[in-house]
Amino acid sequence: MLYQENPQNLKRTPYYIYHKDILCQTLETLLQSLPPDRKYVVHYAVKANDNIEVLKCIASYGLGADCVSGGEIEKALKAGFEAGKIAYAGVGKRDDEIELAVEKQIFCLNAESEQEIDVISEIAGKIGLTAPVAIRINPNIDAHTHKNITTGTEENKFGIPIDEAVRVAQRIINDPHLRFIGVHFHIGSQITQYSPFIELCNTANKLRQEFADRNIKLGMIDMGGGLGIDYENPEKNTIPDFSGYFSTFANHTSKDIELHFELGRSIVAQMGELITRVLFTKTTPHKYFAIVDAGFTDLIRPALYGAYHKIVNLSSEERTLGKCDIVGPICESSDVFAKDREIPLPQRGDILAIRSAGAYGEVMASTYNARPLIKGYME
Ligand SMILES: *Cc1c(COP(=O)(O)O)cnc(C)c1O
Repeated sequence: MLYQENPQNLKRTPYYIYHKDILCQTLETLLQSLPPDRKYVVHYAVKANDNIEVLKCIASYGLGADCVSGGEIEKALKAGFEAGKIAYAGVGKRDDEIELAVEKQIFCLNAESEQEIDVISEIAGKIGLTAPVAIRINPNIDAHTHKNITTGTEENKFGIPIDEAVRVAQRIINDPHLRFIGVHFHIGSQITQYSPFIELCNTANKLRQEFADRNIKLGMIDMGGGLGIDYENPEKNTIPDFSGYFSTFANHTSKDIELHFELGRSIVAQMGELITRVLFTKTTPHKYFAIVDAGFTDLIRPALYGAYHKIVNLSSEERTLGKCDIVGPICESSDVFAKDREIPLPQRGDILAIRSAGAYGEVMASTYNARPLIKGYME
């Protein structure tokens, strides 16, 4: 007899659960936190979580999208985001991706090099449309976050050096196939202090003045994303401090400039959790290991940047607390979710929830070790 999928197996661990109520509450708070006297446009950074149900929900709140590939543009359109609210960033755009962006008449392509600007112009000329272009600028600001998610320093591959911005803008303005939209920054992710954002505002203000001195008008400034979340206390701080974030920008920029934001993590991280089952436990002279059925193929953040996630034992809150290493089944020593973590000591069969896993979780999953690709479910 052929193998038949057992409906009970559809939710075989490991899997992601996305809580719709938390997502909706987050989006409502975000919209309420926008200063009413400003022109602020928020794009959702699709790469944080591109689950179709998640995208549809976010699109229904009227947010724009921030995409980093042609595939994301297609997904965003399918989910209901308006083309006119899609920004497209990325240091390496293929010709066919640029073509798609120009044809779909998205809001803006954020160009990251002069060569890219030439290619966009050539493609737009061929299609017979003018391409909307903003310049991604590398402001050389340290976001004070993990080095792998810092993007706006001289060391990083992203953007055009800030002292070339005016010359490059002039070049776009003089090109009949291009329309100059403004400038774009993105300094990093999981930023938990406001000081790097204040520094970004100061840099943007100075640059705007430089442009004004040369009679170049900026249609908008895109401040990127990066607002951090509380991985330690997800239950207490489920909704990020959007009003503190937006008012930081409002307090440090002038009223008449249109600002765009590209928030990913802060919108989707807390609504998601990774559900996993304890396969085995193992005691050694040094350690108590709980070996779970999720691995870095399903959630790579701890292995990739030593990220902390709160882990809860859903099977028993009462069992005595103990220190344990919670590790995955992958044949790599970096496949560790937590070291010396105090938790009601897991036993074989227990179900654990890895919290705050809605951002950069499912989207980064792989099939390494021939494992099935993990699924996410909206509830
Ligand atoms: C990743 C990314 C974002 C989103 O960053 P978050 O930290 O998730 O808010 C925004 N803009 C660009 C260009 C990005 O690459």
